[in-house]
Amino acid sequence: MKDIFDVTIVGGGPAGLFSAFYSGLREMKTKVIEYHDTLGGKLNVYPEKIIWDIGGLPPQPAGKVIEHLVAQALFFKPTIVTGEKIVSIDHEGQSFVLTSESGTKHYSKTIIMAIGYGLLKPTKLQIDGAEKFELTNLLYTVQNPASLKGKRVLISGGGNSAVDWANLLEPIAAEVHLSYRKDQLKGHEAEVTKLLASQVSYHNNHDIQALVASSTDSTQIERVILKETKTGALKEVEVDVVVINHGFEYESTIFDNNSVGLSTVEDYYIQTAASNMSEIPGIFAAGDVVKHDGKLHLIAGAFHDACNAVNQAKRYIEPEAYEYGRVSSHNDSFAEENKELVKAFFVD
Ligand SMILES: Cc1cc2nc3c(=O)[nH]c(=O)nc-3n(C[C@H](O)[C@H](O)[C@H](O)COP(=O)(O)OP(=O)(O)OC[C@H]3O[C@@H](n4cnc5c(N)ncnc54)[C@H](O)[C@@H]3O)c2cc1C
Repeated sequence: MKDIFDVTIVGGGPAGLFSAFYSGLREMKTKVIEYHDTLGGKLNVYPEKIIWDIGGLPPQPAGKVIEHLVAQALFFKPTIVTGEKIVSIDHEGQSFVLTSESGTKHYSKTIIMAIGYGLLKPTKLQIDGAEKFELTNLLYTVQNPASLKGKRVLISGGGNSAVDWANLLEPIAAEVHLSYRKDQLKGHEAEVTKLLASQVSYHNNHDIQALVASSTDSTQIERVILKETKTGALKEVEVDVVVINHGFEYESTIFDNNSVGLSTVEDYYIQTAASNMSEIPGIFAAGDVVKHDGKLHLIAGAFHDACNAVNQAKRYIEPEAYEYGRVSSHNDSFAEENKELVKAFFVD
């Protein structure tokens, strides 16, 4: 017997997690499938960074936001599958079948694509042998800034992440160097101004030319050789840790292997109506993967998409259902029925 879900959400980031909660609120049998072993999506890339712009939430680290999102998503007990990458989507009878890389099949009446920008992989440093330092002091994300206290850190990159990390580490690290292959940093203006006025040594127009291993431990970087991009002049920086923030590469083979006709625009996005319906009846999208006029590629936008996508999925299955979800605060019977759950949810 096939276990057919009402809604299957591909992706366990903010869009997928909030969709799962909202889908439960609308009493649909819900499954979330996430490639990584942990939920939270891109927020896991910056767990220590403070998120300021989610309505109703005081500024807090992304890691804490993940905790809230997961607690809320689990409220109606959806089925959560982690560590599975969906590689194809097909029709089977009246349902969709989603197949994972391992060959597992998931059956669903509707699908919400909440895959962000696909499978996120940090862009690796293009230097032969660099990967051997990844086990020691070559980092692509900073999981625990406190571990860099008193260390000499070199950050490579010129976007928001590089600039933010340089500012965040400057008061706690012994030295912070920022090398960027161009002249002008691309971070938020206020952060760039702060950085340029700080003790961070900014090596503009410099690329990493080589990582030099310690003479006593060949797995540890001891020095970084920087090359001036215009003159080719070299200089050395002694380091304890190197952090590479060169952006991300995205893998999205899911679009190559679907027989349902789901296509992309601008090489990646799912074009949807403002209501988050895709061109394929029964498939909806939420979060960063969405493209439509007025789409906000931020967490706040992901939440709006999630409500729309779930409401549309509900109406696809039950055309007579209300177009919008109930105003949740008006549902005294709901609160009464779920008294214990509600209590548990609000206990910090
Ligand atoms: C450094 C940085 C700082 C940011 N700061 C802010 C901020 O301050 N405020 C703000 O609002 N936004 C911020 N953002 C943007 C915010 O993180 C995104 O808008 C948000 O994460 C989008 O959520 P999502 O669920 O659409 O996608 P994601 O968070 O990318 O989640 C998508 C999930 O889908 C999974 N997935 C993809 N393909 C598959 C597949 N085939 N099978 C199974 N699973 C799959 C991925 O593994 C991932 O977990 C920031 C982003 C970055 C990179």
